[in-house]
Amino acid sequence: MRKLIWDRGQKDRRGYRIAKSQTPAVSIEKLLGDDYSKDSLDLPEVSELDVVRHFTFLAHHNFSVDSNFYPLGSCTMKYNPKINDVASNMAGFRDVHPLAIEALQGSLEVMYQTQEYLCKISGMDAVTLQPLAGAHGELTGLMLIQAYHRDHGENRDEVIIPDSAHGTNPASAAMCGYKVVEVKSKDGMVDVKELRKKVSNKTAALMLTNPNTLGLFEKDICEIEKIVHDAGGLIYYDGANLNALMGIATPGDMGFDVMHFNLHKTFSTPHGGGGPGSGPVGVKKILEPYLPKPVIVKKEHKVLLDYDRDRSIGKVASFYGNFGVVLRAFVYMTVLGKKGLEDASQMAVLNANYLKVLLEDVLDIPYSQGAMHEFVASSHHQELTALEIAKALLDYGYHAPTVYFPLIVSEALMIEPTETESPETLEEFAKTLKEILKNLETSKNAPHMMFIKRTDEVKAARHPILTRAQMLENK
Ligand SMILES: *Cc1c(COP(=O)(O)O)cnc(C)c1O
Repeated sequence: MRKLIWDRGQKDRRGYRIAKSQTPAVSIEKLLGDDYSKDSLDLPEVSELDVVRHFTFLAHHNFSVDSNFYPLGSCTMKYNPKINDVASNMAGFRDVHPLAIEALQGSLEVMYQTQEYLCKISGMDAVTLQPLAGAHGELTGLMLIQAYHRDHGENRDEVIIPDSAHGTNPASAAMCGYKVVEVKSKDGMVDVKELRKKVSNKTAALMLTNPNTLGLFEKDICEIEKIVHDAGGLIYYDGANLNALMGIATPGDMGFDVMHFNLHKTFSTPHGGGGPGSGPVGVKKILEPYLPKPVIVKKEHKVLLDYDRDRSIGKVASFYGNFGVVLRAFVYMTVLGKKGLEDASQMAVLNANYLKVLLEDVLDIPYSQGAMHEFVASSHHQELTALEIAKALLDYGYHAPTVYFPLIVSEALMIEPTETESPETLEEFAKTLKEILKNLETSKNAPHMMFIKRTDEVKAARHPILTRAQMLENK
C-alpha cells in the first residue's frame, strides 16, 4: 500500500521558505482559538518534493476522460476541449473577485450570452445560472413551481415521478417538501394510462427526462404534457439527457415549463469525483417572476444585475453560480455554434446505436428499439453479474458503465459512449466485453491489475472510513 502523506512526514520538515515579513507575527493559535493549537491540527510535515511526489502519484492513479474511455451512462463523460480551460484560466476572468463582477461588463456579458444560448437550445424564455449542480437545479426548479402555485392560491403537495427516474428527482421533491408519487413504466416509457390515474388537484408537477434514463424518447410526450397541464400541474424537464437533443428538438416545444441543464455534462466541463458543476434553470414566462435574484438582464446594451424582484424565491447560491463552469460552457457553445451542437447530438446518438449493435450478440438489451444517446444492457442471462463485468473492465483500462440503474432493469449496465469517441474505440470496447464474458474465472475475481483489488462493497457503504482518525482506529 502506498504511504499516505502523513507517513511521509518528519517532525519540523518544511516545504517552503518565506522572506521575513515587516508585519508583526500573529500566532496560528491566536487566530484559531485555543481549541486549534498547531499540534491538534495533525498536519503532515513534509518537504516540497514529498508534496510533488504525493500528488503526482495520486494524479497518475486518477481516471479521467483524458486518459481512457469513460462510458458512464447518464453522466455524459465527453471529451472537454482544452480551449475551455484556457479561457477559464485567463487572468481577466480568473482573478476577478466575485464582488467586482457587478462592475465588469466582460464577465456579465459572458453570463448574459450563456443565458441567451441556453434559452435558444432549450426553447425556454429565461435562465438563471445560479444553481451549482443538476440536483441543485431540480430543487430550484421545484421551488419555482411551489412559488407559482402558492401565488395562485393553490395547495398542491404531490410530485409525480416515473420509476425510471434518476434518484435525485425524488430526493429533490422530498427536500422541497413534496410527497413523491411514482408512475410505472410500460415498455420502458411512462405508462400514460397509469399517469391519468395519478394526476389530481394535488399534483404540483411531473418530473421527466426525455430521452429517459433507458435512452428512449418518450413518444407520448405531447399527451403526457396535456394530461398534467389539464390537471393544473406543471412539468419539469430533467435536462441531464440534453446531449441527445441539441439543435434537434427542445423541451420548450415539448411543453415543459421548467428545466435544469447540467453544464458539466452536456456543455463540457471535466466532472466526476464530486465537482465542479453548474445546473442553470430555464423557465417559461409564467415562472420568470420567481427566478432567483439577482437576474442578469440587458438594458440599452448594458448588462445589469436586477435585484428588484419582489416575487423572487431569493438566492440559491452565493454570488452568481459557478462562473468558471459557465465560462467553459460559453466557450464550448461559441466554438461549436448551432450546427456544431446539432452535429454533436447526432454523433452521440449514432455512437450509442453503433455500440448497441456491436453488443447485441453478447448482452441482452431489453428496450432496444429507438435508443438515443445511451442504452441499457443487462447481463441477467450471463454467468457474470453487472458488477463483475464492471470490475473486469477496470483491468482493461476502461471506466465501468453505470450499473444497477435504472432500477427497472435487472443486472443493468447503462452505457453512454458520447459523440467524442471514435468507431475504433467502440469496436475495441465491444471486443473487450466479449473477452470478459468468455474468460469467466478471471473475470469473476477482477480487478487484478488495479491499485486496490476487489473491495467489500457492503462494508464500504455501511462502515465507511472517511477520516485519518477513523483509519488509525481501524489499524
Ligand atoms: C446527473 C443526473 C442528474 C443530477 O445531476 P448532478 O449534476 O449530478 O447533480 C439528474 N438526472 C439525471 C438523469 C442525471 O443523469
